[in-house]
Amino acid sequence: MLGQMMSQPLLISSLIAHTERYHSGAEIYSVNTGGGVEETTWGQVGKNARKLASALTKLGLEPQARCGTIAWNNRRHLEIYFGAPGAGFVCHTINPRLFPEQLVYILNHAEDKVLFIDATFVPLVAAIRDKLEHLDHIVLMEAEVGDAGDKLPGIMAYEDLLATGDEEYVWPEMDEFTASSLCYTSGTTGNPKGVLYSHRSTVLHSFGVNMTDSIGISAADVVLPVVPMFHVNAWGAPYACAMSGSRMVMPGPGLDGPSLVGLIDTYKVSIALGVPTIWLGLLGEAKKIGSKLESLHRTVVGGSACPPSMITAFREEYGVDTVHAWGMTEMSPLGSVNKPLAKHLELPQDEQHRLRENQGRPVFGVELEILDDDGNPLPHDGKAQGDLVTRGHWILDAYFRSTTEETLTNGWFDTGDVATMDPDGYVTIKDRSKDIIKSGGEWISSVELENIAIAHPKLADAAVIGARHEKWDERPILVAVKREGEEPSEEDVLSIFEGKIAKWQVPDRVVFTDVLPRNATGKVLKRNLRDEFGEVLIG
Ligand code: AMP
Repeated sequence: MLGQMMSQPLLISSLIAHTERYHSGAEIYSVNTGGGVEETTWGQVGKNARKLASALTKLGLEPQARCGTIAWNNRRHLEIYFGAPGAGFVCHTINPRLFPEQLVYILNHAEDKVLFIDATFVPLVAAIRDKLEHLDHIVLMEAEVGDAGDKLPGIMAYEDLLATGDEEYVWPEMDEFTASSLCYTSGTTGNPKGVLYSHRSTVLHSFGVNMTDSIGISAADVVLPVVPMFHVNAWGAPYACAMSGSRMVMPGPGLDGPSLVGLIDTYKVSIALGVPTIWLGLLGEAKKIGSKLESLHRTVVGGSACPPSMITAFREEYGVDTVHAWGMTEMSPLGSVNKPLAKHLELPQDEQHRLRENQGRPVFGVELEILDDDGNPLPHDGKAQGDLVTRGHWILDAYFRSTTEETLTNGWFDTGDVATMDPDGYVTIKDRSKDIIKSGGEWISSVELENIAIAHPKLADAAVIGARHEKWDERPILVAVKREGEEPSEEDVLSIFEGKIAKWQVPDRVVFTDVLPRNATGKVLKRNLRDEFGEVLIG
């Protein structure tokens, strides 16, 4: 017997239609690329998204045509997030920090027909325009084209395109499994791979984000997605915010400490989302100018391990809860979130602090498992560490232009992370499997050592890699960046590990460098560090 309930497809357009109808007055503050802040509402964004959908349709694009964006977090980008998929096209966000050859590869592989760009990226796109094989239209995300027309002949202004759209446009119905958005993983080796989200996965992911024990955005929140819209759809924040009708603050190009503190204090931001390095800048600035970050209740931190010292600084100095989350592009990205259980609230404060440090528990909709080398499940005892695999409603099935057989093993996606899981399902990410250090048959987690090192007051940045060793195969070494004006000795740096980890895990050497190499999403390129420093313990 079948259930007798209505069947409605889970469509991205339903998110914006909902918020346009019931939260039309909720404000969106958007920092313009050229400076200044524009104030608008969800009602206006919803109307513009429909006009954009209509305008794109009038351009004669085929269903599912890819519409690329190379843009900051701003109002127009938000409209494209809803307008393009809502009309049955695919919103393809592109990371401007990639090398030009990678940009060309991605734009050609995805066969983008339209490319929306912020003024910042006119020179970048002009330099590769000739190599883009499928591109028919370039749209400057400004009111007018200005000088951009000299560098990119034929470019049109966003507001002119919008003006051709119909205000009475009605969102079309479509299959909820239709592709909605595309995002390439920046990877540290090989060509980037495309992850093609569907309407259904995006809407279900928004429910996942908005659960109380997840990120839980409410209509009473003011949300600042510092995480760029070209990183896994800003962790799904724009869609989750439309679902709840929260206010949004779109930070535009300025992601430095002073700009962020200014936005938080001016617009009374209650939730901000971003990677750990961003928050280092913010904490430094808040201290400098004496801001108490009064409105801020929560920071959601993910993308790489959140150092415990940062969680403490937020809590003790600003009364801000840090929610540590883990995920990846292939997971839309939400995988696990660290929130306490009832029994944890009865524990002493320092124990509660410690429990906040790991990457949390899988949210409903995501299954996680740890496997040994033969693919057998390992015990969830908080000790056994293995390959972390996943499956669920918003996990990829196959990379774009690839097959399930090439992407999954026995129906699971291998995250490439090594982790432990405790009996309550709390996951601790130990490393990327290729970065874990194997010393004389024992495994050493580089993440654990980095978490300790980064708290050293004389260091600005730190990474741990395995260096080749004649006796032990590999030993950890610390690659450290000194804080400006500080001259710590190797001994001084290593003293931070005393009493925190077993002696045999302490790095054998500290090498200082000016800056750590990072990929386009801000992750340290350990391969480059291994190339440079991997032999320092030999001979
Ligand atoms: P990306 O697809 O670029 O978002 O990268 C995903 C990878 O980032 C994951 O597989 C992890 O290795 C790493 N990552 C993301 N969040 C965390 C976290 N909270 N702690 C440790 N590593 C993380």
